[in-house]
Amino acid sequence: MSAVHHFHGYKPWVGSAEEFNRTGLARRRPPRRGTDVDGSARQAYLDSEMLPIEVGRWLEKRRHAHRSRTWTQAGDALAWLKQTWLAHPERGQPFVDGEGGNYLPLDVKLTYAEQDLRNGVDVAWVYYVGGGLAAYAVVCCPNRFHPAIACPLPPARAEGPDQRAVRALSSR
Ligand SMILES: [Zn+2]
Repeated sequence: MSAVHHFHGYKPWVGSAEEFNRTGLARRRPPRRGTDVDGSARQAYLDSEMLPIEVGRWLEKRRHAHRSRTWTQAGDALAWLKQTWLAHPERGQPFVDGEGGNYLPLDVKLTYAEQDLRNGVDVAWVYYVGGGLAAYAVVCCPNRFHPAIACPLPPARAEGPDQRAVRALSSR
């Protein structure tokens, strides 16, 4: 997929694994048809700051998109992932070949994330931190898996630093 998509970052939720995996599950997926008579379950789902089970559905939780976390360049999304990880580092030891470990080092995670984002694949990071679980994501928009969900917050027309640099180079 070419770089016709842009990116929305969804800020970290930090809480217990029990809530993420069990008690909060109803807020992580849209209610089944016919089960939400008064619409309250859907509203709770839309309001929730927890990662949806289908990551691309972040886009339909429209009020969670924010200008400061909307990017046209994958590099800017990756910088946010890095900054967010550093604010919520993983618990345990990074994996080192031949020595084991609990998680992939940040630079390896970022390499995978870059490949995914450039291919239009959403990136969701969920892992253990000191206070439980941290979960956050960068979602590609339009979304390959949910093409019918409209962009919640189209990027500003103003060009980013990447584009200015490219234009300066090409006009030499
Ligand atoms: Zn969008």
